[in-house]
Amino acid sequence: MDKKISKAQIRSAVEEAYAECKDITGGHNADYIPFLANINPNLFGLSVTLLDGTTVNVGDTEYKFGIESVSKVLTAILVLRQYGAEAVLKQIGADATGLPFNSIFAILLEKDHPSTPLVNAGAITACSMVEPKGDSWGKWEAIINNFTALCGSPAQVIDELYKSESDTNFNNRSIAWLLKTYNRIYDDVPMSLDLYTRQCSVGITASQLSICAATIANKGLNPVTKEQVFDAVLAPKITTLISTVGFYQTTGDWLYTSGIPAKSGVGGGVLGVLPGVMGISAFAPPLDEAGNSVKAQAAIKAVMKKLELGVFNGDRVTIID
Ligand code: GLU
Repeated sequence: MDKKISKAQIRSAVEEAYAECKDITGGHNADYIPFLANINPNLFGLSVTLLDGTTVNVGDTEYKFGIESVSKVLTAILVLRQYGAEAVLKQIGADATGLPFNSIFAILLEKDHPSTPLVNAGAITACSMVEPKGDSWGKWEAIINNFTALCGSPAQVIDELYKSESDTNFNNRSIAWLLKTYNRIYDDVPMSLDLYTRQCSVGITASQLSICAATIANKGLNPVTKEQVFDAVLAPKITTLISTVGFYQTTGDWLYTSGIPAKSGVGGGVLGVLPGVMGISAFAPPLDEAGNSVKAQAAIKAVMKKLELGVFNGDRVTIID
């Protein structure tokens, strides 16, 4: 079915969703990373970017929060850019494990590959693949420049968060060394882990994340800067990865109830991609049991419902002025 939606409808849907979800309670800030436990739990932002670059931002959309696991999407794009889709499938994989994002058990079970670049194991492997190999600074430049290109503006590490994560990432250290025993770390192990920890500690805003989401929805062309950041053929690959594992163990429930592939992070951010239509992001620190932001989920679902949008709806959507 052909479906036309006006920009005014989108603006109203975002504003109404924000107002309806603002006072939702429940959930807790992540506390296994001490810095995150102390972030103001009342912060809340909701942002949509359309494919012509129009943005709708409501609430705390300029607050810089820890990108955490959402960073995995951006660096998966970088290794897809550097190696292509086939090599990423072979060297990392594209399967959901059905186990927690930081599961060691998943690596033992699937020792032939680290599953997907969107869980900790695969993301550490992705950092090990980033070119130029063996050059920590060069690799970091590649990672952060890719963030800038996707988000349309620069992002920096939150030093305090980086320190907090580095001091407490014992589980990730085990993951990295275990992967090494299966020959799935393709560079120096401590360097690869450090790059992963650093990328998780980048401060990002909801408005930057929605531009990144819109760049994916727009087949790699950043709608704000007009830069073609990655080859269009990679867009369905990255959206597939997001669809299959973006919400940890509750990914199926999320896709079924929201209709939009999305990736969340324990900093409270969520990035959602509706291919050919828009990018959306929301941020609010308190998380549910699976580690997904309670308010961000509610807000994105509300926008999707109000606009009657869904990736599997089979509609041809046109946005009109
Ligand atoms: N830096 C966090 C970790 O490695 C990211 C987790 C997440 O957001 O899912 O545990």
